[in-house]
Amino acid sequence: MTEPQDFSSFNLDPRIQEAIRAMGYVTPTPIQQKAIPLVLAGLDVMGAAQTGTGKTAGYGLPLLQRILPKANTSASPARHPVRALILAPTRELADQVNENLTEYASRTPLHVGVVFGGVDIKPQTAMLRRGVEVLTATPGRLLDHIEQRAVSLSQVEVVVLDEADRMLDMGFLPDISRILNLIPKNVQSLMFSATFSPEIKKLAKQFLKDPKLVEVARQNATADTITQELYEVGGGSKVPALIEVLRNHGEDGGPMRQVLVFVNAKMTCRRLTRMLEHAGIAADSIHGDKTQDERLKALEGFKAGTSSVLVATDVAARGLDIAELPYVINFDVPFAAEDYVHRIGRTGRAGSKGLAMTLATKDDDRLVDAVEKLTKQKFERRTLEVRPSDRPVSRGGRRYGRDRGETKAYTYTPPKRQAEDPLFDHPYVESGSASWAGSSPKKAEAPRSSLSGFSSRRGESGKHVCSLLGGGFRRG
Ligand code: AMP
Repeated sequence: MTEPQDFSSFNLDPRIQEAIRAMGYVTPTPIQQKAIPLVLAGLDVMGAAQTGTGKTAGYGLPLLQRILPKANTSASPARHPVRALILAPTRELADQVNENLTEYASRTPLHVGVVFGGVDIKPQTAMLRRGVEVLTATPGRLLDHIEQRAVSLSQVEVVVLDEADRMLDMGFLPDISRILNLIPKNVQSLMFSATFSPEIKKLAKQFLKDPKLVEVARQNATADTITQELYEVGGGSKVPALIEVLRNHGEDGGPMRQVLVFVNAKMTCRRLTRMLEHAGIAADSIHGDKTQDERLKALEGFKAGTSSVLVATDVAARGLDIAELPYVINFDVPFAAEDYVHRIGRTGRAGSKGLAMTLATKDDDRLVDAVEKLTKQKFERRTLEVRPSDRPVSRGGRRYGRDRGETKAYTYTPPKRQAEDPLFDHPYVESGSASWAGSSPKKAEAPRSSLSGFSSRRGESGKHVCSLLGGGFRRG
């Protein structure tokens, strides 16, 4: 198949073409070049596409084209049944996909909408009752709406499983199966995934009919636009190492701006954010215990530059689209090597350059090996010179900030200590050790979990840490 060089060669409806022109898309990305003709031809597609490749338009544009003949301006909800259903693992991704689809369909009469959990269900119900032809949803909330009979899937023609690997990781398989059993058998099915585990292949076999495989990069490959660096740091030196990097490894040796810092557990997320703030670095966090509103607020502040560092867990960060994010730092090496690919895919998007740094201790060797194996590369082990002033200190009176002669910009003298704070009165302990309540990698966040379940999920040692942190613990 010859690959079209611009969007006009797909013969998309002029209204769709106008919308993508308005969004500034000129040249289709490789995944779009390959996927769009196949989806337009009505074939099932399995797309191996890493984050930031433009996969949303890869399925979104042809999907709109296919249902466009039935678009109408009738006010009757019955004339706007769900014809295209996109399932996404997280609220953020669902929101992002919906935003894109809304733009692509903005010049057509198609109704486009999204439903996800964590927010009031009523406005979503009202929206569904008005009729939505293109519906993006997280599985759990969609099932809630189905149970309430707010929506029917009996007229679905195209179904998309976006970030299917993540949906499986998050335990959504039963929900997905229930949903897919409610849609007609002869639908066109599309599945997109950044990684291809045996489970994903099994899912594809189950739900796709003779799918065409569309691959734009080597399996589990990371984008060439991302420079990857690995720093070996001593056991207790990760926080000072991070502070050093944040302050002095930006452009021209200055502070880094717009840095996404990944951690493995919610508790590390809150704790690290506080430590950075105490070091005079504007930081915010997003993790599974924050409400949707809190997450969006943190994200907006980050995008607007109010905070220069956003500390995030994998699940919470999924689906974030921050244009041209220059830096990603893995404060924790991810427990699952696939997450490394997802994490660093937040930078170097759509051709822009990005820097991904990983801080690793000797204890992380096994995890680093797994990342190297998956991404087919060998990291050069770099070391980092940590200035004494970058070390956060625990007892009152000493400074957190840098102290280099005339440079006092970050100097911070802690206010008189108000109360004993266990976070700062004990040395930093790496995640994964016993005093971190044995935070289990895959259970660090689960779909539809809540903080109230914390101690019960983690047993006695979890209770111990909770009570240690209780009261004096402010949200990051
Ligand atoms: P996605 O991988 O779908 O999340 O897309 C990543 C980013 O690339 C989004 O901000 C899209 O709006 C943008 N994008 C997608 N396709 C194109 C294109 N052909 N030209 C320029 N930007 C694009």
